[in-house]
Amino acid sequence: MNEQSTLTKPCDHDGCGCQIPISRDYCNEACRMAAEEQNVGSTCECGHAACQQLHHHH
Ligand SMILES: [Zn+2]
Ligand SMILES: [Zn+2]
Repeated sequence: MNEQSTLTKPCDHDGCGCQIPISRDYCNEACRMAAEEQNVGSTCECGHAACQQLHHHH
């Protein structure tokens, strides 16, 4: 196992469910801006399909 190359953590934007490398803070600029503006509780605008699915699960 080479776990060091696959370590991930949740995106630091509270409204985002993306898994990202631990060396990064946000999955993309949209999440960085949303977090800096404290725009939590609304739909995440990062555009990642895996993240959007979290908001539409039933
Ligand atoms: Zn997201
Ligand atoms: Zn994100």
